[in-house]
Amino acid sequence: MSTSSTFTHETKDGLFAQVKTTNHEQVVFCNDNATGLRAIIAIHNTVLGPGLGGTRMWNYASEAEALNDVLRLSRGMTYKAAISGLNLGGAKAVIIGDANQHKSEALMRKFGRFVENLNGKYITAEDVGTTTKDMEYVNMETDSVVGLPESMGGGGDPSPVTAYGTFMGMKASAKKAYGSDSLKGKKVAIQGIGKVGMHLVELVRNDGGIVSVSDINSASLNHAATEYGATVLNGDDIYSADVDIFAPCALGAILNTENINSLKCDIIAGAANNQLANEEEHGMLIKEKGLLYAPDFLINAGGLINVYSEYIGYNRENAMRDTEKIYDTTVKIYDLADAQNIHTQKAATLLAQKRIDDMLGVHSTF
Ligand code: NAD
Repeated sequence: MSTSSTFTHETKDGLFAQVKTTNHEQVVFCNDNATGLRAIIAIHNTVLGPGLGGTRMWNYASEAEALNDVLRLSRGMTYKAAISGLNLGGAKAVIIGDANQHKSEALMRKFGRFVENLNGKYITAEDVGTTTKDMEYVNMETDSVVGLPESMGGGGDPSPVTAYGTFMGMKASAKKAYGSDSLKGKKVAIQGIGKVGMHLVELVRNDGGIVSVSDINSASLNHAATEYGATVLNGDDIYSADVDIFAPCALGAILNTENINSLKCDIIAGAANNQLANEEEHGMLIKEKGLLYAPDFLINAGGLINVYSEYIGYNRENAMRDTEKIYDTTVKIYDLADAQNIHTQKAATLLAQKRIDDMLGVHSTF
């Protein structure tokens, strides 16, 4: 038998090759025939603390798609926690299945057992396809869960805090672009006025901004128009709207070559996750066009800051105060990007990675 340390069965598209590329610490496959649970928990990095990230339930077309999603999302959580100054690592879980058909108390509690078996290394929360109620079931089996209702000592809906952080990032961007962080008289187009976007409409309007909105939900559009005097834009017209600030708060990957080339704004600052269709290519294109891009994983971290506060003992005031610091970090990112002549997404990633590397050094002795 060979004693060589080389693992000769590793293939280019094999599991370990994939996990090696993304540099994940641990990936756990959870199977339970009785409840039909099939889940993957990906723990990307725990240098700063336990990996925190929500559990997404989605009817993935294939196992490969589910694995890709959980690897990508968990890595994103590492950087979001690191740049926000939280003592948290990055992780995420996906449950494969249709949330409307396959979810049950038993399935969620079994998932909770798997989380519990990780002994605190992974902390879960709700995400697309899971609800606060599901997290109550998970909580019956493990304490490693946040995002519980206020009645259970949790922080409730994190969306208003996310909106506040996005607003802070937007104001810091205005300061950089216009020399003043007041949004008075600034035209701001918000794409997606759901849980986060609608709060952002209110914050911008209260700061004197002139708001326009787009959404696929006409009831939300009517509400924004009647309640906040927002102008309604039709679908993709938002990309070429004559505005100062564009705030994507709906979908990911909407900043592609075509859309970026249509933009007439000076600033892109919104809450949607993974806005750049391709981080390097589109981060560069935005820089070349002379637009300011507030990195999404930095300015939408208010929700994570809120659930972190829940983890250490919930206090809404502390969560809001920590979220306010997104303003200073955004300024820091713009300065770093200028100093190194790099795009802002890259600057944000460098800063996040630096904190992880620094703390690795701190933990390496004693
Ligand atoms: P949500 O589902 O409440 O709102 C999304 C809104 O976008 C909905 O009103 C929907 O109708 C609209 N929408 C969908 N497709 C659209 C399209 N093609 N054009 C215009 N509008 C469209 O979600 P949310 O919680 O408000 O989150 C918004 C974004 O922010 C998501 O990308 C989410 O991942 C991200 N985010 C949210 C939080 C949070 O605390 N909720 C935290 C971090 C990041």
